[in-house]
Amino acid sequence: MVMNSKERTDNLVEFLNGRTSEARLLDVLLENSREGVALVDWRGNIRRINRAFARMMHQPHETLEGKNIVRLISHSEDRALLEEIVETLWQDGYWSGNIRPWLAQDSKNTEMFLKISAILPSNGKIRFFLCQLSEIRILRSSVVQTMEQARDPLTNLATRSLFVDRLEQAISGAKRHRRSLGVLILDLDRFKLINDSLGHELGDEMLRIVAARLIQCLRTSDSVARIGFDEFGMLLTDIDEGTGAIRNSGFVARKIYDALARPAILGSQEVELSVAIGITLFPQDAQDSETLLKNAETALDHARRRGRNNYQFFSAEMAETARKRFAMESSLRHAMERDELKLYYQPQVDLGSGQVMGAEALIRWFHPEKGMISPADFIPIAEETGLIVPIGEWVIRTACRQIAAWKVMNLPAIRVGVNLSPLQFQRQDVVGIIKDVLQETGIDPASLDLEITESAIMEDVEKAIRILASISALGVHLSIDDFGTGYSSLSQLRHFPFKTLKIDRSFVRFITENNGDKAIVNAIIAMAHSLDQNVIVEGLETEGQLAVLRALNCNQMQGFLFSAAVPPEELTQMLREGRRLPFPQTVGSENINQKWGH
Ligand code: C2E
Ligand code: MG
Ligand code: MG
Repeated sequence: MVMNSKERTDNLVEFLNGRTSEARLLDVLLENSREGVALVDWRGNIRRINRAFARMMHQPHETLEGKNIVRLISHSEDRALLEEIVETLWQDGYWSGNIRPWLAQDSKNTEMFLKISAILPSNGKIRFFLCQLSEIRILRSSVVQTMEQARDPLTNLATRSLFVDRLEQAISGAKRHRRSLGVLILDLDRFKLINDSLGHELGDEMLRIVAARLIQCLRTSDSVARIGFDEFGMLLTDIDEGTGAIRNSGFVARKIYDALARPAILGSQEVELSVAIGITLFPQDAQDSETLLKNAETALDHARRRGRNNYQFFSAEMAETARKRFAMESSLRHAMERDELKLYYQPQVDLGSGQVMGAEALIRWFHPEKGMISPADFIPIAEETGLIVPIGEWVIRTACRQIAAWKVMNLPAIRVGVNLSPLQFQRQDVVGIIKDVLQETGIDPASLDLEITESAIMEDVEKAIRILASISALGVHLSIDDFGTGYSSLSQLRHFPFKTLKIDRSFVRFITENNGDKAIVNAIIAMAHSLDQNVIVEGLETEGQLAVLRALNCNQMQGFLFSAAVPPEELTQMLREGRRLPFPQTVGSENINQKWGH
């Protein structure tokens, strides 16, 4: 029954005056409702609709009545959604959720909220369903407002909360159908850097490009959401079970790499993207949304650690590692205040005179239960959590105080190396701290040597040049640490005020048998010398290695052959005794370790 507007008003007035019959009351209510209403029989055929429903579907009344509602609700590819609706209705008698009716204008982008209730007569057999449809923008109920907020304004993708909702819906559907789900979290590598260096507008553009490419990689039944600043979540609903799920999700991950590997044109620049992806599967890995998301993050973390363009499936061992890391992180937070951190010092010896010229301060953590923990195990955690910032400051201060203490003892002056983490560059006023500490301890700035890795400067070259120039202006020495492990070349490094270059120990390990390594070290030393830099080789363990390095004109060495890192008192003792590296002619066939007191 179609009413024109005059009839509708008349009916409404009649109704308000209390002169309307029950049956007409229903018509009035229906026709005045801004919600689209349809009465559907158990086969899904539409028996009656109201005006609002026809308007929302952009169809005349007559063409809709008699049609099957299933064909209106959604795109035909949304098979999983339809199955989910039918199944829930027959089980619970009610379903509600968002749909994109394909008849609606701009159906891909028009989301509507649909409620379907089974009408249960006294015999308990479902004969009819009542469907209520609301346009998300018109109906401003709290549910709908939440739905609107659930879209990321920049990419128009779902936000984290909507993603979680969808994941939960998918989990209940998958449980009923004994299906698998794949949850992927993708992280853009170095996006912050792109955002900061190219400007936020182009950064935003980049996120939109990524969003569009991700949508292209997925089926319509899958979802993609922006769940963090540069993190995207993807939900794969229609995947095989067991090992098939692994194959399916791995395939999607590779497809995503390929899609994102194409450089993006931002303004006048071509920008290349690389991503890390963590994948977890339902039901194998977990059965609730919270754990699944946590698993995907854990797997992502592993993928990130393995370098660029990497994906990782979640595993139980990963969860165990994550748990251990978490435990370590919380005890590391208290390590400083409980006085569990100590600085050890590893001597650096001149290859010509054999004398101790310097020492590198290396941090040690004495855990009350686990004993001594190597920095290789906890520095990465300190860096991830930002704890390296206060720890790093403590290291600078403690090392400088030690230099001052040695000075008072009237020992031969040595230069002490302190490792600086990249994060200290980004988050801390390192220059200010160094100035303060130099003033506080009154030491000669040249007795402090800051070791920086290539990766720390390559993150943000201009900033690094500025900071390093200010440090160098204070008279403090600068060394490049672990040289050869990063991507930088000596020609890049000549723009920095480094006085010393430390060759990473990986080049030294096989130097006696590997001519390639020997040639590389030879070239590094020659180039460093041409730039007037001092060369220290790290990780020297054998006499054979020492002989090669001497022949290559390396200046200094630091390694177990002479001494490992020792507590400050032990280094004091060494300096007092004037312990030195024997010259080649004095080293006989006897056990070299015995000779040097190991
Ligand atoms: P690094 O700065 O390259 O320090 C040299 C590492 O090589 C030290 O390990 C040292 O004990 C080890 N080493 C020295 N000679 C030999 C040798 O002959 N053979 C072998 N196998 N190893 C040798 P350590 O003390 O475990 O430190 C590991 C890394 O932890 C350091 O590498 C540095 O990157 C970081 N680290 C240590 N202390 C600090 C600190 O106070 N702050 C920061 N940011 N990082 C630190
Ligand atoms: Mg170092
Ligand atoms: Mg090193």
